[in-house]
Amino acid sequence: MDDCIFCKIVSGEIPGTIIYEDEYCLAFEDANPQMPVHTLIVPKEHYASLADDVPADLLGHLFSVVPKVAQIKGVADSGYRTIVNTGDDAAQTVKHLHIHVCGGEPMKEGMF
Ligand code: AMP
Repeated sequence: MDDCIFCKIVSGEIPGTIIYEDEYCLAFEDANPQMPVHTLIVPKEHYASLADDVPADLLGHLFSVVPKVAQIKGVADSGYRTIVNTGDDAAQTVKHLHIHVCGGEPMKEGMF
């Protein structure tokens, strides 16, 4: 996708702070972190969101990378939250499927 910012990070056209990479995905630091740890995992292939007929094996792979990222970021033991925003009501701002991995301090109990 020519105008997709995450595709541009995947291709190296724009910089990202990459902490993990494999054949299928990339993990990089969120540019506007909401927590001390806030990392995004994205597939290298463009899918707009979870609603974009993402192959199940790719979804499984992306989620299998979550604990690896948590280990790299040092929150494997303390805990972390994974978030996937899908569509307008969820305030998905970047239309390239991504998993947020957030942690590094206690979160309040609440809606989720
Ligand atoms: P979402 O609201 O789920 O679509 O989240 C998109 C996330 O992408 C936000 O947390 C942004 O801070 C983050 N973001 C946007 N542009 C960049 C970028 N160039 N590099 C890293 N993170 C970005």
